[in-house]
Amino acid sequence: MRLALFDVDGTLIDADGVGRRALAKAFAETFNLGETPELAGQVRFSGALDPVIHREIARLLNISDKQLEAAGEQLRASYLGHLASACRHPGKSRVLPGVRQLLERLDATKDLWLGLITGNFEAGARIKMAPHHLNHFFPSGGFGEDGPDRAAVARVAVVRVAAGSGGSVEPAMVTIIGDSERDVACGRSNGYRTLAVASGWTSREVLAAAEPDHLVADLLGTDSLLEILTN
Ligand SMILES: [Mg+2]
Repeated sequence: MRLALFDVDGTLIDADGVGRRALAKAFAETFNLGETPELAGQVRFSGALDPVIHREIARLLNISDKQLEAAGEQLRASYLGHLASACRHPGKSRVLPGVRQLLERLDATKDLWLGLITGNFEAGARIKMAPHHLNHFFPSGGFGEDGPDRAAVARVAVVRVAAGSGGSVEPAMVTIIGDSERDVACGRSNGYRTLAVASGWTSREVLAAAEPDHLVADLLGTDSLLEILTN
């Protein structure tokens, strides 16, 4: 059995900054900031877990860890609410090139299972992908709330997807597909294979320096990607 675990932002979709804007509004609302903070360029979202991003933003806004912890649930609910209303009008949010064709082919491939590996809370990932009808490809996965770091989240994804499919899986049979060097690092540290795609916010050079097993510009080459993911 093989597992193909996909990152969400920059790999499957480009949500056009909708998450960042929803989170800025959620911080303003939850902590009565008066104005919505500008987070672009201040916090690195790509490849990071949502709870870690929250702590980083809190520090930036001089909100203590204690305050953040006390308001954690309220912040999360506010974020998901803003995200859901923004995604009702997805605007420039789009599925990245080649993704749908690749997922359809992989979905039809015997002995290969699909899952998600993302720093998004599961609810956030589902909301972002809903307008693009991608959720049905991914019954489960590992999400921002599932571990302290991306490598731990990836292990949760493997256990869940394997359990859901009723099989077992060797680390060498797992491939992480992502747009950040953090995706590559989380795969390598677990002994998984890695496919880096330069369709997000990380340059080809930075991705190459992380030494993924494969590096592609986008997910358009369905046949060759299928070859990589099934061999
Ligand atoms: Mg990403």
